[in-house]
Amino acid sequence: MLIGDLKPHSSSLLRYNPPMPAPQKMPSAFARLIEQLQTLPGVGSRSAHRIAFHLLKSPPEDVNRLAAALHDFKNDLKVCTECGNVTEADPCSICADDKRDPASILVVEQPTDIAALEQTGIYRGRYHVLLGRVALLDGIGPGELNVDRLIERVKRGNVREVILGTNPTLEGDGTALLLQEQLHELGVRVTRLARGLPTGTSLDGLSKAVLSDALQGRGEFGGRLER
Ligand code: ZN
Repeated sequence: MLIGDLKPHSSSLLRYNPPMPAPQKMPSAFARLIEQLQTLPGVGSRSAHRIAFHLLKSPPEDVNRLAAALHDFKNDLKVCTECGNVTEADPCSICADDKRDPASILVVEQPTDIAALEQTGIYRGRYHVLLGRVALLDGIGPGELNVDRLIERVKRGNVREVILGTNPTLEGDGTALLLQEQLHELGVRVTRLARGLPTGTSLDGLSKAVLSDALQGRGEFGGRLER
């Protein structure tokens, strides 16, 4: 058979369009879970599917424990209206503790930073949680953070020192500078955790010893924003 003889036959094969199978629809409970998982930060379609299939294979009691933990998380935990810490009681146990010095406020990015600093056992003042850091590229400005409440606390008086304990990262330093500028106008002493902290890390990943040194070696923070 000559190759030329195949031509009409092969072109007719190319023209053959088998009927497409109807797309399989996901069960609605599965689709709903995927949709909800994807609303979480950092969870895209691929991760959402991986989590959903993992839960599908898990024993029901494990999945129920997770569901109960999510339920309790939202119902039992609140944000302390005074400092922004995550707490079961409002005000939180630190704000409610008369033995903690209300004249010293240590500003951190996240509640987990408080847990790390408390482990050092050397800080006896109060805290303020920003619930994030300024990241203009991600659209997070000072207005998105728990800053107004900090200014209010300082304005209320009796605050001697504000220690800026934002993480030693580019964004953490930028946040500290912005806060310093606002706090400076209120006439309060502003310090920054010592710069022995490794750059680019977060407080909750540091050892007790490093954090203790950073707290004890903190220095005046007098940077001004260039405008
Ligand atoms: Zn509190």
